[in-house]
Amino acid sequence: MNHLEGQKKSRFQVEREEMIELLRTRGIKDERLLAAMQKVERHHFVDLPFKNRSYDDSALPIGSQQTISQPYTVAIMTEALAVRPGDKILEIGTGSGYQAAVLVEMGARVFSIERHVSLLNEARKRLEQLKYDIVSKAGDGTLGWKDFSPFDGIIVTAAAPDVPEPLSEQLQEGGRFVIPIGDLNVQDLYVITKIHQKLSSRKITGFKFVPLIGKKGWQ
Ligand code: SAM
Repeated sequence: MNHLEGQKKSRFQVEREEMIELLRTRGIKDERLLAAMQKVERHHFVDLPFKNRSYDDSALPIGSQQTISQPYTVAIMTEALAVRPGDKILEIGTGSGYQAAVLVEMGARVFSIERHVSLLNEARKRLEQLKYDIVSKAGDGTLGWKDFSPFDGIIVTAAAPDVPEPLSEQLQEGGRFVIPIGDLNVQDLYVITKIHQKLSSRKITGFKFVPLIGKKGWQ
């Protein structure tokens, strides 16, 4: 490692610690989640022109008109997912791979689907280099991944018009399902649980996601 790299790493480390403090002040309480987000180096998931903003609490472009989600959004969704070590989690919208890495750091077995092949290839390369082991495929995530179902948790990282039925069917009894639902401009985050085969939900208001495009999403 050269001298400049050393400086850069310590700067990112400091900024990451500041990001975690900000998440705490915004109400994130799950210490296992905060420790996972402290570990995952977000700057590896951010495109070169935006590296300086890697630890800003904002979404950033990753190509194909998509974004890596804002850290607060990742935190609130992951906290709501209540991940336990060994849980089998389905993620719809691999994007940069950052959310998947946070889930792996929390001990989850991650299955992730992305509709943009180029984004998936980039994310796979990055995750492999960083030694995050996930199972992934390119395709329409609104149909879920039956071969590996049922899942203890499902997280959809793009905005849906409604709950895609195949996903709720692939949720384990007692499982949690986190999904933004609304129109194309603004969405609420729904935290859905399946108890005795029935879905019950609570709502966290006011989010803005890229659209979930697919057979059971936006056409
Ligand atoms: N989780 C990502 C991360 O950590 O970088 C952020 C993902 S971005 C906000 C949402 C992603 O969902 C985009 O990459 C988009 O291409 C993807 N997406 C949209 N509709 C999809 C679908 N039906 N199936 C799979 N991926 C989809």
